[in-house]
Amino acid sequence: MKKQNELILFLVFIISITKVSFAKIEQFTNLNHSLKSRYLIKTSHLENIENHVSLASPSLLQQWEIIGGGVEAHYNEYLNLLVIDKDKIINGQVKSYYEFKKEEKEYSFSTFASTLFHELAHADYDIFIEESDSNIRFLLNHMLKRWVARNIKGYSNRIVRHEILGYSAGGVIELLDYEISNVLFKYGYVFSQDKCMSKSFLKKTAKNLNLRRDFVLENHREDIDYAEKITPSTIWVKGKEINIDAYKLPKIYKYGIFNYFKTTYQIPSNRSELIEKINESHFIEKVRKCYADIL
Ligand SMILES: [Zn+2]
Repeated sequence: MKKQNELILFLVFIISITKVSFAKIEQFTNLNHSLKSRYLIKTSHLENIENHVSLASPSLLQQWEIIGGGVEAHYNEYLNLLVIDKDKIINGQVKSYYEFKKEEKEYSFSTFASTLFHELAHADYDIFIEESDSNIRFLLNHMLKRWVARNIKGYSNRIVRHEILGYSAGGVIELLDYEISNVLFKYGYVFSQDKCMSKSFLKKTAKNLNLRRDFVLENHREDIDYAEKITPSTIWVKGKEINIDAYKLPKIYKYGIFNYFKTTYQIPSNRSELIEKINESHFIEKVRKCYADIL
């Protein structure tokens, strides 16, 4: 009976999708550009994943939250379909940061980017990781599988592993967003709005930090290791919250998952590495420009 219900829901889902498009990668071009320039990540693997999924916008049923609604994005593994909320798509393209900004919704870009990264990690797991002979496959399909079987009972082992990876992917964007915001804020730059702080704040900052023309950013706080920061403390599986922290996910999994994202997207391992990246990026010129008439 349960299976039958699931089948019916699944059919309703397929029928109810209003718009499935088959042009793929181009629909993500603007978004990828934003991810690359804002989070300083390498997006080539993201493009591989996007090339294997189709983009759809939700039907009325979903918009009314009758099926799988209430989320900005959702991945359907049976159809390799990425369903994205209609208001996050413009002219058939997934919106970039600049579109969010134009609509004065720049604050919500990071949440959207993190949700999308989460969903694309599900696609990555299905399409690439499962088929590869890689460390991450061994980690997820053997080591983590045993750990989940021992610790988290009453849930599908596979879904729990999928969600740990998905939430970790979302965690990568959340962490980068938080860290880049903090580092730039110290130098008078508002990352979320992509603009300089007020003149008076900049003047104070220039004095406090003893800035000279052609300055570079430095780390003013203690360094932190990012490897343990991206794995989730809780995950949601079929509407239920699982407290991962309570089961103490061992370091080896946290580092293994982090390493996968680090090598795939070239994310920094700690704050010092992040600052180095920022100093080599377009951000340094943007920040220096804020001080054009001050220094
Ligand atoms: Zn998920």
